Amino acid sequence: MSLLDDLEQLRTEALTAFAAAGDAKALESARIKYLGTKGRMKELLGRIGKAPADIKPQAGKLANQIKGELEAAFGEAQARAGKAQAPSGPVGDITEPLPPEKRHTIGKRHPLTRTVDSLVEIFHALGFEVVEGPDVEDQRHNFDDLNIPADHPARDSFDTFFLSGTTDALLRSQTSTVQVRMMETRPPPLRIVAPGRVYRPDAIDATHSSTFHQVEGLYVDRNVSMADLKGTLKLFVCGLFGADTKVRFRPSFFPFTEPSAELDCTCPVCLGRACPVCKQSGWVELGGCGMVDPAVFEAVNRTREDNAYDPSLWSGFAFGFGIERMAMRRHGITDIRRFLENDLRFLRQI
Ligand SMILES: [Zn+2]
Repeated sequence: MSLLDDLEQLRTEALTAFAAAGDAKALESARIKYLGTKGRMKELLGRIGKAPADIKPQAGKLANQIKGELEAAFGEAQARAGKAQAPSGPVGDITEPLPPEKRHTIGKRHPLTRTVDSLVEIFHALGFEVVEGPDVEDQRHNFDDLNIPADHPARDSFDTFFLSGTTDALLRSQTSTVQVRMMETRPPPLRIVAPGRVYRPDAIDATHSSTFHQVEGLYVDRNVSMADLKGTLKLFVCGLFGADTKVRFRPSFFPFTEPSAELDCTCPVCLGRACPVCKQSGWVELGGCGMVDPAVFEAVNRTREDNAYDPSLWSGFAFGFGIERMAMRRHGITDIRRFLENDLRFLRQI
């Protein structure tokens, strides 16, 4: 038989064999037989080199064409065999733990976010609505309407960040601004909490930061008394730190509340026995609170012009707590700077 006939015969045989191969094993032996390094194709290509000059070009062209066809047919047959072999049932044991190098690290929320979520949940259960206000404020919302006198030291640039080139635009130094904004836009009764970031040009150390978070609360209704304030905050503190936590109120002064108090609770780390977190006193400070000063209601009325917050009809209480401080008490953290460093070794521990 001539070389050209042999090539044609190889084409027919190999195409038939690839099509007939029922599984990957049969297909592989067909490949070795026809396309392998010692296979028929190789043998015929070797013969072309020794063929007479008149049929050489034709044989070479045909051989290349057949080789291409066979490789394509083999590829298709291989894809078919792969599909047929794909498992239809469960793959391995899906409950088997991955080796350590293949495990993904599961992310967690930041300890501050988790503290905010917990306190929002507690106040929600007590009927408070969560609201927010802007970080950039004006003097009226940050000071004037909160009954902070024009010559008060808090207004000086050592205690407040003013935006450059202005004496009115500032970064809020307290979330009490949100109280004012809420009362300006909504009539009483009002029951809100406002968590948010505040800014003060404090020298940074283990307990001070130039930016931190506060949660502000405001309750305005008829006949709200100091007893309501104490009851609400006691429930809040027990919800956050545990039912056995004790609270105490120390007389204090703030321009926007009268009377005013500082709220302390028994140290959640040592449960009141004394430890470094509570500086061996057994008590930790949470923040300020008090009955809304009628001067604040009057300031709001000047903006509203409908006298909705008539101090003879409405009374209320307000409070403001540092969120970092609460998160520190909760987790026994002694350095406020940890919250901003985003060191994963620290964050993963909590
Ligand atoms: Zn302690």
